[in-house]
Amino acid sequence: MSATDALGPLARRVRRSLNGDHPGETGTMLPPLVDHHVHLQLATADDAVAGGIAAVVDLGADPGAIAGIARTEGLPHVRYAGAFLTAIGGYPSDRPWRPGGSVRELPSVDGDGDGGARADAERARERAHHALAGPVEAAVDEQRSFGASVIKVALNSVAGPVLDRPTLEAVVSAAHARGLPVAAHAEGERMAQLAIDAGVDVLVHAPFTERLDDALISRAAAAGQAWISTLAIHVRDDDAVAAIAIDNVRRFRAAGGRVLYGTDFGNGELAPGVNAVEVAALVRAGLAASDVIAALADPWPDATGAWTDAGIATFVPGAPPDAERLADPDAVAAWLATARILPAEELEPS
Ligand SMILES: [Zn+2]
Repeated sequence: MSATDALGPLARRVRRSLNGDHPGETGTMLPPLVDHHVHLQLATADDAVAGGIAAVVDLGADPGAIAGIARTEGLPHVRYAGAFLTAIGGYPSDRPWRPGGSVRELPSVDGDGDGGARADAERARERAHHALAGPVEAAVDEQRSFGASVIKVALNSVAGPVLDRPTLEAVVSAAHARGLPVAAHAEGERMAQLAIDAGVDVLVHAPFTERLDDALISRAAAAGQAWISTLAIHVRDDDAVAAIAIDNVRRFRAAGGRVLYGTDFGNGELAPGVNAVEVAALVRAGLAASDVIAALADPWPDATGAWTDAGIATFVPGAPPDAERLADPDAVAAWLATARILPAEELEPS
């Protein structure tokens, strides 16, 4: 097996065309790469683009502002959630960093006041047509009217109240009825479990509060839930938390779970572009180099890569790590961190 085969079906050995800046330079061509968790109202993406990120998914912004940013010509291509949906007084409604207009606080749909004890999916579906679900439907419709591709929910029990299960299920059914997936920030004890139980499609951070048991992880993977990695912020902030998150990702991946590369770009200091710390942590979590490439190139939240494509490709110059070094987190990270965006027409098979 050649080194390029070991990189999986998305990688191709190429040479740059003979005109241009680096005529004849050889390297690896990959699809356009996506950071699936960014905040463009908190950080400009120019340096991320220079570092090989062609497309981003904004997961929390003022819906009008992010719609305007997404319409701007040029890279990165942008998909977005619009506002954070949360409980009344819930995270991040009181955070100093939250952009103005970026939070929608939802009252409970649990009108019988049983705290959700008797909730089930069927009742949630009934509620979707009930007056109590009005604010939930209005919030989902608002994000959709601004062009959102995904609905973002915050479930952070460390930082405030969280949506009860009936209300979360009402959000999920309202979003699904409109063809939109739901992505949740789950933080605090049993918040990842709440999101998994309620049918949330994506966790915007690999679970980091606690070790999830194998049965729960298997259930998430079998349900087709995807996890956006965001491991670099934990490596930066707290080794113990990073270890929990990496262990959860390792077992999720082993169970067949879909991992999406994402950094939470805009959350403090993070190297822009393909982030070497994020890549190295994914390799440490058991992802093969081909899996890391798949996590970077996944077109979520769209089903196809049509939105990231538009005649561009990723070029990683030089030889990829050889077969032995492909298991070395730092070697894979150093190689992928040199990724650049080029017009696809400048690359030819070699
Ligand atoms: Zn975020």
